Amino acid sequence: MNTDYLIIGSGAVGMAFADTLLDESDAHITMVDRHATPGGHWNDAYSFVTLHQPSAYYGVNSTELGSRRKDESGPNSGMYELAGGPEITTYFDKVMQHKFLPSGRVSYFPMSNYVGDGRIVSLLSGAQTAVTVQKKTVDATWFSPSVPSTHTPKFTVAQGVRVIPPNGLPQLWLQREGQPVPNKFCILGAGKTAMDAAVWLLRNGAMPESIQWVVPRDSWLVNRLQTQPGLEFFNESIGGESDKLAAFAEAKSVEDVFLKLESLGQMLRIDRNHCPAMFHYATVSTGEVELLRKIERVIRKGRVQSIAPGAMVMDQGTVAMESGTLYVDCTASAISHRKSEPVFEEGRIKIQLLRAPLVALSAALTAYVEAHGADDAHKNQLCVPVPFPENLAGYVPATQNSMMNQFRWSQDKALRQWLRYTRLDGFGKMVAELDKADTERQAVLAQLRTRAMAAMSNMPHLLNASPMV
Ligand SMILES: Cc1cc2nc3c(=O)[nH]c(=O)nc-3n(C[C@H](O)[C@H](O)[C@H](O)COP(=O)(O)OP(=O)(O)OC[C@H]3O[C@@H](n4cnc5c(N)ncnc54)[C@H](O)[C@@H]3O)c2cc1C
Repeated sequence: MNTDYLIIGSGAVGMAFADTLLDESDAHITMVDRHATPGGHWNDAYSFVTLHQPSAYYGVNSTELGSRRKDESGPNSGMYELAGGPEITTYFDKVMQHKFLPSGRVSYFPMSNYVGDGRIVSLLSGAQTAVTVQKKTVDATWFSPSVPSTHTPKFTVAQGVRVIPPNGLPQLWLQREGQPVPNKFCILGAGKTAMDAAVWLLRNGAMPESIQWVVPRDSWLVNRLQTQPGLEFFNESIGGESDKLAAFAEAKSVEDVFLKLESLGQMLRIDRNHCPAMFHYATVSTGEVELLRKIERVIRKGRVQSIAPGAMVMDQGTVAMESGTLYVDCTASAISHRKSEPVFEEGRIKIQLLRAPLVALSAALTAYVEAHGADDAHKNQLCVPVPFPENLAGYVPATQNSMMNQFRWSQDKALRQWLRYTRLDGFGKMVAELDKADTERQAVLAQLRTRAMAAMSNMPHLLNASPMV
């Protein structure tokens, strides 16, 4: 078969790219994915997973996710709703069924493997389809996060020890013969998934004393209040962005940036006695942090190597464990650190991060540039990949590259106009809708621009003071 674009992967990234390409061109698109429905890893997520960020600016550009309501209960109370896993997969499926397929311009191969050279192999029948790509093959698998239910843990588990992914927690009500419902838990891992599992246990009645938590590294966390899209949050989001740039401009080191942001309430950490070494843009509410602080039995001895009945061998020693402990494996890494490559090359596109941490915006913008950019050199100038932070120092180039991309986009009239109204850029829309007569908020915007210059000029000094080892 013939197609203009062959997109490998129908996760959030492939879907956001295809959606904008459909709207901005008359191209024919073929999508292939091993999963049975669009949404990628969200199909394998634990049932209580939610977005880190408000639904208002996640998904594809053409179709709202959620209904822009604010939560009225729970730790996200007062802030814009966060879609859960089932809601996200239903959303992507509807986009496929109601928009992509009826357009007559999308061919979709679910439950199929892309094996290279334009060949698609059905997982269920082994049937092969050869696709002739007229324009470009699009790799929408760059991020492909690893999730607990499908990853292979790096530690070994002896017989008699029960380890489950967080997907198994809501099934614990089911009392199997000879397997009582556990009441002692040990959460393995310190990322957002581990935090979700801990919050789920606490909100469902587990006692804080019954939970142990293996934390190999502490993490800085973004305060979700700073990520709200509505004008009523202007001071927190745009004002917060301006304060963040002031912190970058004034700090003496990368650590100092984070401490300054903590004092502004923008960055959070669970334990104030420990200096975090990790930053992956995990975003939480202060309500979640308060809950997590209730867990005092924290094990800081590096990573788990093996678990036997009664003992856990860790990088820095062995820890005695109570028998009957249920281990919750949250050690899958949602981040794959890959070296950046050019986004556009002859015959192919590799979708990467263009503004940290907005994955969906990056994919949609790549499609816009593909549809309207002059040639690959021009397109690559507009889409310089942003390296995802591997350590604290990585926050500097991630911010720097994001800001430089934003500046280049602002110099392109049509792209600037598209960005003003894309729903995937929560803040852009807020700025576009700002009343010119609102002098107070216009002053905050002006200050943000001045601070951006000061922040950019201090970034090389920050990197010299805290090299990226
Ligand atoms: C718990 C959690 C919460 C998150 N919250 C947010 C958030 O709030 N905001 C945000 O921006 N990001 C968030 N993320 C980051 C998230 O990873 C991205 O938003 C996005 O879902 C990544 O999508 P993807 O399409 O790159 O990857 P995937 O979802 O992994 O999709 C890639 C797809 O490619 C398919 N594939 C790969 N290779 C092949 C092949 N050879 N043949 C056929 N198919 C193939 C896979 O089957 C898969 O379906 C979160 C991540 C996690 C784990």
